[in-house]
Amino acid sequence: MRGTFTTTCRRAVGIAADLLWPPRCGGCDLPGTMLCDRCRAELPLIERADACPRCGAPDGAHGCAECGRSELAFAQGRCAGVFEWPLDRMVRLHKDAGELRLTDPLARLAVAAAGEWTDWADAVVAVPSSPGAIARRGFDHGAHLAAVFARMADITAVEALRARPRRDQRGLGRERRAANARSSIVAVPGVTVPERLVVIDDVFTTGSTLDAAARALTGAGAREVRVLAVARACGGRL
Ligand SMILES: [Zn+2]
Ligand SMILES: [Zn+2]
Repeated sequence: MRGTFTTTCRRAVGIAADLLWPPRCGGCDLPGTMLCDRCRAELPLIERADACPRCGAPDGAHGCAECGRSELAFAQGRCAGVFEWPLDRMVRLHKDAGELRLTDPLARLAVAAAGEWTDWADAVVAVPSSPGAIARRGFDHGAHLAAVFARMADITAVEALRARPRRDQRGLGRERRAANARSSIVAVPGVTVPERLVVIDDVFTTGSTLDAAARALTGAGAREVRVLAVARACGGRL
């Protein structure tokens, strides 16, 4: 009953939003759709067979320059596409302009990238935004993405992580930066963490945030954590 009510409300809000702010393509602003056929065809998707199975970097299947010998708290990583047009524009509009109607196409890409992981995982966990970022944006884009992903993949979304205010990274060396990222994400006290988890984020940049999330979850009892991102900003090093 509650589910029906929620779905009805969501539809009503969606219809009202479409009337007030007609949908426009996240890639090229074409009216009438959130992702036009031309931009869909241009999406810079990562071919899984070519990607690093450990961190999801494109072209890393036979030796990865990005994760190298780094110790990672997550077992595997996948990214749907490269952070280039039109995917980068979609991600920015979703996060920075509050265009939450783009959550569906972005989550759909994540579901496709996750593939069989959605059967393997007990639950999906969002990378938490800091309280300051949520206050600034007025919403938690990561939690939104995880919730839509969970609905599409028919798995549970668990709010297992919490962000703490992060120290300014400027002027910090690589080790201190990693330590800073680690201390900025913690497991929610007292949360029961399932054994097999997928952590989802919109952008995988250096991987330190997703690594910190995986570390917090394994520390709280998860047996294996895999990480999933919609877009991969290339050139970062773990
Ligand atoms: Zn378009
Ligand atoms: Zn790699």
